[in-house]
Amino acid sequence: MTHTTVHAYAAPAPKAPLERTTIERRALGEHDILIDIKFAGICHSDIHTVRGEWGHETFPIVPGHEIAGIVAEVGPGVTRYAPGDRVGVGCFVDSCRECDNCRAGLQQYCTGESGPVGTYAATDRDGEFTQGGYSTHIVVDENYAVRIPEALLLDAAAPLLCAGITLYSPLAHWQAGPGKKVAVVGLGGLGHMGVKIAHAMGAEVTVLSQSLRKKDDGLRLGADHYHATSDPATFLALADTFDLILNTVSADLDLDAYLGLLKTGGTMVQLGAPENALTVSPGSLYRRRRSFAGSMIGGIPETQEMLDFCAEHGIASEIELIPADRINEAYERVLASDVRYRFVIDTSTI
Ligand code: NAP
Ligand code: ZN
Ligand code: ZN
Repeated sequence: MTHTTVHAYAAPAPKAPLERTTIERRALGEHDILIDIKFAGICHSDIHTVRGEWGHETFPIVPGHEIAGIVAEVGPGVTRYAPGDRVGVGCFVDSCRECDNCRAGLQQYCTGESGPVGTYAATDRDGEFTQGGYSTHIVVDENYAVRIPEALLLDAAAPLLCAGITLYSPLAHWQAGPGKKVAVVGLGGLGHMGVKIAHAMGAEVTVLSQSLRKKDDGLRLGADHYHATSDPATFLALADTFDLILNTVSADLDLDAYLGLLKTGGTMVQLGAPENALTVSPGSLYRRRRSFAGSMIGGIPETQEMLDFCAEHGIASEIELIPADRINEAYERVLASDVRYRFVIDTSTI
């Protein structure tokens, strides 16, 4: 078997608009599956990356790490999947498989020499540069794909592979559930999944958004309360309230103001990945024994658990399906916080 040439959308240079191109996918190895990609979500991380905000320099880059599709072919040693299976691929496509974190199923925190291999803009273990899901096909090792339950539509399931797991993992880790007050900061792609999942787990959910513009949506998605952070009264009214705050904001934020909303012993988890460093005043933490933590996506077993949880609870992403020639326009709308709540590319239009 030889490499296959497939269609894709790539950013040719930092900040340049994405354009249609072709890329090579590797020949199927022993444990590889070839996936016919049906849908790819647009994550804000795709935008940070192609705008050079995280310092990547190797262009062109085909973004996309919220991939949903159908298995088209399998390598000779594949045991987990067969042609026709509905599968997803998230933010990484390999890892060392030997470190403590990989052995524990926490591949996202792989401490191996090159860490988890990003689905795009990374160097794969075979030395090739990885290219992501804004494409018609991808080849991945069967151990780095997950099964999408029949109960989930493929298009609305795609964003679960990053946005869904990124919120599910900290909600599970910090035990969101009945009796817990959870705040989600930012009602975008990540945030709206946080509201749905935290509500399904039984927590009391509050959205902290820049304005009340999306209030009706937030309440419909499962929030119990909705407040505007542009109103200083919000920070007075909600002081010492939450057990858990999940910050999904893609821009700089005054962390101390938000830490003040945690009750004694509460935890704020940083999920957003803005370009600049953020600061925390020590007193914001020690005055109420508060914690400031971070969390990154989730491992393969937990991603499968999240998909099964979503299927069981009838949860998926609220999406706006777009043809590939509207990717650049969608990026502008994400940057303007004008997304309800995830753009998903119909890859048949590539
Ligand atoms: P998104 O859809 O753009 O949502 C971000 C939300 O943040 C916006 O909808 C907006 O919500 C709020 N926001 C934007 N600019 C703001 C500003 N200047 N001040 C205050 N709030 C602002 O992005 P996303 O795809 O959810 O990703 C969010 C962030 O998480 C990105 O930085 C992304 O790279 C990162 N991320 C991290 C992980 C991880 O594993 N930790 C995984 C995926 C993504 P409102 O309109 O409601 O205020
Ligand atoms: Zn992402
Ligand atoms: Zn590892």
